[in-house]
Amino acid sequence: MQSISSFTHKSRHYFDLEEKYGAHNYHPLPVVLNKGEGVYVWDVDGKRYYDFLSAYSAINQGHCHPRIVAALIEQSQKLTLTSRAFYSDMLGEYAQFITKLFGYDKVLPMNSGVEAVETAIKLCRKWGYEVKGISESKAKIIVCSNNFHGRTSSVISFSNDPSAYKNFGPFMPGFEIIPFNDLDALGKALQDKNTAGFLVEPIQGEAGVIVPDEGYLAKAMQYCEDAKVLFIGDEIQTGLCRTGKMLACDHEKVRPDILLLGKALSGGMMPVSAVLADDEIMLTLKPGEHGSTYGGNPLACRIAITSLSVLKDEGMAENAQSMGELLRKELEALNSPHIKTIRGKGLLNAIVIQHPKEDAAWDLCLALKDNGLLAKPTHGDKIRFAPPLIISREQVLDCVEIINRSLWTLQA
Ligand code: PLP
Repeated sequence: MQSISSFTHKSRHYFDLEEKYGAHNYHPLPVVLNKGEGVYVWDVDGKRYYDFLSAYSAINQGHCHPRIVAALIEQSQKLTLTSRAFYSDMLGEYAQFITKLFGYDKVLPMNSGVEAVETAIKLCRKWGYEVKGISESKAKIIVCSNNFHGRTSSVISFSNDPSAYKNFGPFMPGFEIIPFNDLDALGKALQDKNTAGFLVEPIQGEAGVIVPDEGYLAKAMQYCEDAKVLFIGDEIQTGLCRTGKMLACDHEKVRPDILLLGKALSGGMMPVSAVLADDEIMLTLKPGEHGSTYGGNPLACRIAITSLSVLKDEGMAENAQSMGELLRKELEALNSPHIKTIRGKGLLNAIVIQHPKEDAAWDLCLALKDNGLLAKPTHGDKIRFAPPLIISREQVLDCVEIINRSLWTLQA
């Protein structure tokens, strides 16, 4: 790692503060940001960078999108939180907007992504008992190996990544892990009559942008339908135009029974997540059985309506599709001996690094940073390339030039 003494006095001050007073549950790249606009962020010394992580796809609309900021300011001066003890004039309007947009009967609003996943687990189990007729405490949910659905105790219970689960047990039962992209394994797991749901990321983001075979999602959906099992699509990272369509499931015309959204639902303003489902599923929940103080607050509702409108009005799915194709084509053309694989869909992409040095991906991210582009390794040798969806052709070409220059530093 770059020695900390090579950073400016200002940056070092902020590293030290976080190190001393913050829990050490993250390992950030050594850069301190204090401004963002569109595809760019700036550090405390005024250096500008392309943001190639987009806060794990929460900034699809670009940093501080003016329409979303305006909505935030206006609503925050009027009404921010009522709790669900009372009605607000925003929640109903938002519920109508988002359900019409995605074609579901109902929405259940939450805050962080993992809360949406938790909600889906509860909802799926409840449906399993009350509609499918599974006997008490027997409901099973099938998940995929190398999944990432968040960090709560129940969600890490079905992770197979030791850094997510080790020494956090005892774990919640009721999950079966099968390999991702394996229809035979799914078919077998579905034979268990106590199966209530299949929870899946259409593309595994955290695992390093693992794109399943074409047809996998459509067939998996069909298998679930045949077995009367709910298909739960976690589109928290893949959704909202990131992969070149509004939802990654749209590529295969799959409509999940339970759809999970988060991240870019607020364009990076605040945690806003949503669970969408039809009445047969959603109405199994009765008053008092689930909720959240902040879920569905008027500020979040207003921001979410605007964030979704911005995605549509500015044609971000189409731009993600064409800029993603351009990015992958230009990366291929580099023919770098240090890139083993380039994969992705739309603007959700990753490269796998090939280098004898174990932390070469981290070193490359440091070189990228020096050259004005921020990206972060995931699972050792993979680097995600996921810029805001407003990126232009010229900017993509500029970024590929930066990546090329940075790859050369791995030679030394
Ligand atoms: N699900 C998926 C697919 C994710 O990628 C993430 C976060 O990266 C989550 C759930 C959890 O979201 P949050 O960090 O907002 O809780």
